[in-house]
Amino acid sequence: MRKRTDYIVVHCSATPASMDVDAKLIDRWHRQKGWLKIGYHFVIKRDGTVESGRKLDEAGAHVYGHNQHSIGICMVGGMTEDMRYPEDNFTAAQWASLKALLVEMKGLYPNADVLGHRDLDPNKACPSFDMISKWNEWFPEKGESHVDVADGDNDQSDKRDLRSTPDA
Ligand SMILES: [Zn+2]
Repeated sequence: MRKRTDYIVVHCSATPASMDVDAKLIDRWHRQKGWLKIGYHFVIKRDGTVESGRKLDEAGAHVYGHNQHSIGICMVGGMTEDMRYPEDNFTAAQWASLKALLVEMKGLYPNADVLGHRDLDPNKACPSFDMISKWNEWFPEKGESHVDVADGDNDQSDKRDLRSTPDA
């Protein structure tokens, strides 16, 4: 059970645009890593369909040091066809779904900052686009999506969950 929600973290699946990944497949990948189940709370498929992963009140497994106080949303895509480089290759349907889902999540967690995985972990390219700029472009009237990142909660459950990274 997650007690706080400080961040709404957007990820990508680090797969090419041609690959139609869904929550079921990501669930299989994450179980293969030895995790309990899919680490994200939501998956947004290439056609814009929003699928559920973890329950909204559960801790996720998607961002090292911050799982106990964040929600994880995964956009399917984000890599070039040769799987060598990050690529902003998301569909119009995905952007529309992400925008609507973020508005819904901000309604539930008004104090949570919307950001991308790379904003919490500079070693990551994920989600292959600048989520903070995107949010400010979508909702200029809401102001900054992001405040200074607080120290993470490096507890044991996080370490167990994220001994390997969920994505690129
Ligand atoms: Zn990520």
